[in-house]
This record gives sequence, C-alpha cells and structure tokens, in this order.
Amino acid sequence: MPIRRLPPQLINQIAAGEVVDRPASVIKELLENSLDAGADRIELDIEQGGQRLMRIRDNGSGIPREELALALSRHATSKIASLDDLEQVRSLGFRGEALPSIASVSRLTITSCTAGEAAGWRLRGDGREQFTTPEPAAHPQGTTVEVRDLFFNVPARRKFLRTERTEYQHIEEVVRRLALSRFDVAVRMNHNGKAQFDLRRADSAEAQGQRVAAVCSEAFLNQSSLMEHEGAGLRLWGWLGAPTFSRAQADQQYFYVNGRMVRDKLVSHAVRLAYQDVLYHGRHPAFVLFLEMDPAGVDVNAHPAKAEVRFRDSRLVHDYLHRTLKEAIAGARAGADAGAGA
Ligand code: ADP
Ligand code: MG
Repeated sequence: MPIRRLPPQLINQIAAGEVVDRPASVIKELLENSLDAGADRIELDIEQGGQRLMRIRDNGSGIPREELALALSRHATSKIASLDDLEQVRSLGFRGEALPSIASVSRLTITSCTAGEAAGWRLRGDGREQFTTPEPAAHPQGTTVEVRDLFFNVPARRKFLRTERTEYQHIEEVVRRLALSRFDVAVRMNHNGKAQFDLRRADSAEAQGQRVAAVCSEAFLNQSSLMEHEGAGLRLWGWLGAPTFSRAQADQQYFYVNGRMVRDKLVSHAVRLAYQDVLYHGRHPAFVLFLEMDPAGVDVNAHPAKAEVRFRDSRLVHDYLHRTLKEAIAGARAGADAGAGA
C-alpha cells in the first residue's frame, strides 16, 4: 500500500482505542469534563450497563453555541493554550481527545447552555467527523452528553464488552471514586431507571462520613478511624480501615493525590508496610485517603487513562506515608483497646 493520510474518523477511532475501552471509561471522561466545567451537581442515567445509553448532565459552565462543534473536534481544548499552561495544569483533562474519540465510536449528542444564554443548543454526531449544525434545545445552564450504542460501528471492540452487570460494576466503581474525591459535588445515578446513588453535597465532617458509608459501606465507616496528619510539606487525611475490616481483595482502597485517584506501586508499598504487623498475610486493608502536596512535586498526568503518578521525591513520600499510617493504625488500635476496656 502507498503511504497515505488517515481520514479523521479513523484517527479518532484509533485514539478511542486508547481512551475508551469500555462504558466505564466513557463515564470517567465525561465526569472529568463536568468537574472541569465547575459543576457541583451531576446526574447520570445508565441503561444496559452503559452499552445502550449513558447520559450525564451537569450544571457547569456550559459550552457556547459557536464552540460546540469544536468541543467534538480532535485536539481542541479550552484548558490549555501553551506549554506554560501544560506545566501548571490543574484541570483533569487537557488533551482535547475524549469527546472526539467517544463521538467516533458511538451516537453522541451534546446539549449545552452557558450562563448568558436563554436556552441551549444541541449537536449530534453519529460516528463520523461531520456534525449537524447546532439546533436550539431547552436546557438549564450546564451540559448534557448522551452516548448511545457504544461501539455500534466497531464490532471488534463490541465483542470485548462483558455482561451488562460487569460493565455496570465498572461504571459504579468510577462513580465511587469520583464521589469520594469531591464531597462538594452532588451525584445521582440511575441504572435502568433504578436509583443507585443519590449523594447530596457533603460539607460537614458528619455528612462526609455519611457519604463514605453510602459509597463504601456502613461497616467500613464503623470500623475505620478518621485521621489527619501534616508534616514534611505533606498532608494526609481520611478514613483508615481497622485491621479487623481487612478484605480478601484490595477492592476498597481509595487513594487520592491532590484530588486525583491514583493506583501507585510506591503508595501501595508504603501502605502495605504500615499494615504489615497487624494484618494476616494475604489480607488487604480498606481505606479512603487523601494526600495533599505541592503540585510541583508530583505529576499526576503521566498517562491519560492510567492512574499513574510520579513523585519528584518518591523516597520522602514513601517514608512519610509509611510512618504516618503506621502511627495512625497504632493510635487507632490503642484508642479502640482503651474504649473496649472502659
Ligand atoms: P479536554 O477535556 O481534554 O479539554 P474533551 O474532548 O474532553 O477534551 O473536551 C473538549 C472541550 O469541550 C473541553 O476543553 C471543554 O471546553 C468542553 N467541554 C467538554 N465537556 C464539557 C462540559 N461537561 N461542560 C463544559 N464544557 C465541556
Ligand atoms: Mg476531557
């Protein structure tokens, strides 16, 4: 074959292979967009594990009519404009790839309304790079993205989808992670018309605890201690599961660095060491922890989909986590023993 340029739709579909491998990854991208738009209320409607429909509505800034088509175009973003911006980026997205990728492998509709506008505008895509011109649509301030028939035009991908239940569980996990990272955002989700989450904004410590119970479980909340520690330029806080709440799998471990959920070898290792003496071999602790640090000391955007993170001073972070958690676990046990003895 001669060398030739790939058509835009194919370019987007190739990119979609990296960003969108299942319904849950669509949800992750759309949720991040809603948060980047400053939304404090997000509603999700899911049908058939997301394969039939994923609709996400937010009350964020909205997208002006003349930018709607751009939002669905590749490498178009409102989040950075220069290398300088890239180095300081605080938003969850910045690559301008998610919407065009999703639009290239689904039937996507985006409806949006900005603060100044009386009504909204809607744009449809059907897997091709061409979009209709925006049509007027009733919509309060914010954005609704509707994704139907994911992978309808990519049979090879569709084959890799698992059962409705499995795909839904992946979606739920993405929503859990978000719900724990943003107590200030109300989140509602329906699956096949049935309410799954209805989380109000949680401003007080008590309300945050309630959210942790709703998202993880009552049992976790009851068998965990709220900890907070500051030192070495780092701050660590959150809910630390008691050794008695250990699990057969590492399936209730939420660790956030500057608000972004990460799964990181260094973090896992530090946590494992901290629990080492109090957990049976093969058991895993449960926790919801937040590490806050100077953004310059950490790169959380190493990979678009993976939850990788790079610490500038990884030794310092590792030792801080190990030491602080170990002390917190010991302190909680001492407290529990004293409580039991009283
Ligand atoms: P990125 O998030 O990397 O910028 P996306 O393809 O996810 O790329 O989105 C493209 C652009 O569309 C964003 O930069 C933003 O301006 C706009 N956008 C997407 N979703 C929303 C939303 N829910 N509310 C407001 N603007 C949005
Ligand atoms: Mg995005």
